[in-house]
Amino acid sequence: MFDHIECFYQPTSVRAALLLLRKVGRRGRIVAGATDIVTQADRSTRFLIDITRLGLDYVRKNNREYSIGAATTMSALERAPMICALAGGILAKAAATCGSIQNRNMATVGGNVANASPSADTAAVLLVLDAIVVVASSSRKRKVPLSEFYKGAHKTVLSGELIEEIVIPAVPGGTRTGWSFQKLGRTETDISLVNVAGGVQLDARGRIKWVRMALGAVGPTPLRALKTEELLSGKPLNEDLLTQAGIAVMQEVHPISDARASAEYRCEMSAVLVRRALRECADQAGLKL
Ligand SMILES: Cc1cc2nc3c(=O)[nH]c(=O)nc-3n(C[C@H](O)[C@H](O)[C@H](O)COP(=O)(O)OP(=O)(O)OC[C@H]3O[C@@H](n4cnc5c(N)ncnc54)[C@H](O)[C@@H]3O)c2cc1C
Repeated sequence: MFDHIECFYQPTSVRAALLLLRKVGRRGRIVAGATDIVTQADRSTRFLIDITRLGLDYVRKNNREYSIGAATTMSALERAPMICALAGGILAKAAATCGSIQNRNMATVGGNVANASPSADTAAVLLVLDAIVVVASSSRKRKVPLSEFYKGAHKTVLSGELIEEIVIPAVPGGTRTGWSFQKLGRTETDISLVNVAGGVQLDARGRIKWVRMALGAVGPTPLRALKTEELLSGKPLNEDLLTQAGIAVMQEVHPISDARASAEYRCEMSAVLVRRALRECADQAGLKL
């Protein structure tokens, strides 16, 4: 990857980085932790713009909204008390599964989102949290819901733009709320064969008032299981509904077979992990199944 690089820029402000990005055009590429870029044989890249000195490594809370700087590492996320306290800590849990500690010390959340891998572990969680991606170029800044950010495997809406931060709006709270992140990998440090994130809020009678269910590694992009959410909404959360949700999600996923697992296995495991996620959500929401 690095053989053809003519210049490695290390700007110290977002403005300087954006001007550089405009100057180098299509031959330039942003680099953060480099844990994805280093494995990609992209010979068209001549200029790298390092974004780790722009002050984009932060976690902030303003009222009930969270902002996470794009260059925040997975290690920082998994340890940040605010992130551990947010939505049952599912974002911290997902960050903690992104490879080895050495990888997590370098890997950033912005890189995980921008790389647009179908199996990116923070992506399913961020979909469940209705995250918004704040992107900037030298001429404009815009906010893109993560649900509209992915255009295909390793394809996004980014066009000569930098992700500055990820915003998480207020999430449902209270004692009748539960959250879950489930990951199935070949080993503890491997990428996901399937991952599932979920969030549920129950009403006083144990019926589902609010629900989010998202999966990774089972389609070209991380995806919200909208039909499964529809099936769950308004129903009492019980064993029968868990079974129905498992069946429904298998109709929504479109996994491929590769060296890690077959499409059929991923499909079956989607059902298993969705049931596990709902069970964990129910447990946290005070419902014994
Ligand atoms: C051994 C190993 C194990 C791994 N395990 C996992 C795993 O279990 N789960 C998982 O999800 N991932 C895993 N990964 C993948 C990788 O670590 C993550 O996707 C990581 O979060 C990428 O972040 P980065 O900062 O290293 O990105 P980089 O490699 O620096 O960049 C990746 C891509 O994003 C672009 N980019 C980076 N930051 C921005 C930004 N702010 N704005 C716009 N574009 C940007 C770059 O131009 C590049 O195209 C693993 C990687 C390795 C090498």
